[in-house]
Amino acid sequence: MGFLTAGLAVCLVLLFALSLVFASDPSGRWMRGGPASVHPSLPQDLAAAPLATPAPAPSGTGGFKLLEYQDDGSGVPVRWDPCRPVHYVVRSQGAPPGGQPAIERAVREIERVTGLRFTFDGGTTEPPTVNRPAQNRERYGNRWAPVLVAWTDPAEYPHMKGFAGLAGPDAVSGTSPGERRYVSGVVYLNREHLGEVATWSDGRDRIDAVVLHEFGHLVGLDHVEDPGELMYRTPTAEPHQEGFEVGDRRGLAALSGGPCYRDF
Ligand SMILES: [Zn+2]
Repeated sequence: MGFLTAGLAVCLVLLFALSLVFASDPSGRWMRGGPASVHPSLPQDLAAAPLATPAPAPSGTGGFKLLEYQDDGSGVPVRWDPCRPVHYVVRSQGAPPGGQPAIERAVREIERVTGLRFTFDGGTTEPPTVNRPAQNRERYGNRWAPVLVAWTDPAEYPHMKGFAGLAGPDAVSGTSPGERRYVSGVVYLNREHLGEVATWSDGRDRIDAVVLHEFGHLVGLDHVEDPGELMYRTPTAEPHQEGFEVGDRRGLAALSGGPCYRDF
């Protein structure tokens, strides 16, 4: 079974949750309230209306948890702007067989359910880092850093030890007091472990499930305790061939249809 015997789709969000409490946590880039002191220009591909319609929330009782809510107590989640594409780059070095198609499938599924649109900006040599800044003008110019999807391993990225993937969005404060929005993020995938999984008879399904789970975090889903959901914290070895389940989809619906921003 390899070194991740307890399940595949576990990830950084445990560290994420801790970072909300412990400011010294190395994953502190996800701390609440982190401001972006100089905002990039409005993107050229900003649209006047949401780029697509999200899927309706399914009925049912499946539960979900979201990573972050606005600070005003309104219960409104922190979300991505649906009027502009989510840009992403991929560092494909070391990707296992089936790895790149798994990313493409996950992106299409997230788009279909949330109504968000993703734009692939190509390959990158950017290595995965802790505390990746929301802007890197030297590498990406005057804009938010695109989401970095990177295949890595514990030797390069020690936090990956024991995880199949680590992912999360990067929120910045808006101009209204307490308002926050997602502008960037990371999806790091364990090429060492998933390279082994790729050799299993059901390896493709398992890689798909891991990658989709991580993209669920990217758009704002947290873990749930229900093993029937893809966002289960410690999933069993059963592959999630059906992808997102009812609770996951209800959570994704809650993350959809957010406001469009014009201030930056
Ligand atoms: Zn997870």
